[in-house]
Order: sequence, then C-alpha cells, then structure tokens
Amino acid sequence: MGLSDSNQCATCNATDSYIHAFWLCTHTLSFWLAIAKRLSLILDLSIPMKLSFCLLGDLSDITVKPSQKKFILISLMIAKKAILLHWKNCTKVSITQWIYMLPNHSNMEQLTSTIKDKTEQYNQIWLPFINFLKES
Ligand SMILES: [Zn+2]
Repeated sequence: MGLSDSNQCATCNATDSYIHAFWLCTHTLSFWLAIAKRLSLILDLSIPMKLSFCLLGDLSDITVKPSQKKFILISLMIAKKAILLHWKNCTKVSITQWIYMLPNHSNMEQLTSTIKDKTEQYNQIWLPFINFLKES
C-alpha cells in the first residue's frame, strides 16, 4: 500500500503481510491467546484459539446465546482494530488496550439502547463484561 518503506514486521522482523499482521506474528498470536482466555473468563465458555474464530468470527465450535454471540463478535472486531492500530509502529498490541477499548464501544451501545428503549438487550450483551471489570 506504500504506507511503509519496509516489508518487515515492526515487532518481529519477519516478512510482513496482512495474514502476518493479523495472525502469524508471534506477538499477534500471544494477543489472540490472551483474548481467547479473557473471553472464556468473561462468558464462562471455552473459547477456541483458532484463525477461523478470531479473524472470521466462525462460532461453529461453540454453543452460545444470541447475546453472547453479539458480545463475542464485537470483542473480535475491537481486537482487530487494536491490531491495526499497532501494525506499523513498534509497540506491541496488548490485552490491556483491548480491555480499555471495549467500554468505549459499550458506552455508545448503551446510549443507543437507551434511545431505542432496548436497555434489556444491552444488559444481556454487556453485563458479563461489566461484572468482569468490577471483579478484576
Ligand atoms: Zn511479526
């Protein structure tokens, strides 16, 4: 895309590509592993650490309620956003950034749910995460 003078990953020096940035880089894999563990804790589920799940949102390996499905897909989208924000700089993407980014999205959803009188749906989706934050 011409955004960088180098085709090397800024964090591990391997040849960079989209799949390297989103999955193959060791730092990214560590990040996805942390996401899977954290999602498992938040939702009390066994979240798979698979490319099809993390990058494509393939939920065929787990049984989830509709509210859990929405939270998982939002969480995965936020994780991919965090990866992109760190892709071409020298800082490593971290689970802490993901945890800080989720409430920003949650706040927007809360406002929208209040306007649309859908606070019960909002609570079903976000209460497990809010409770997780209170406990940790
Ligand atoms: Zn790398």
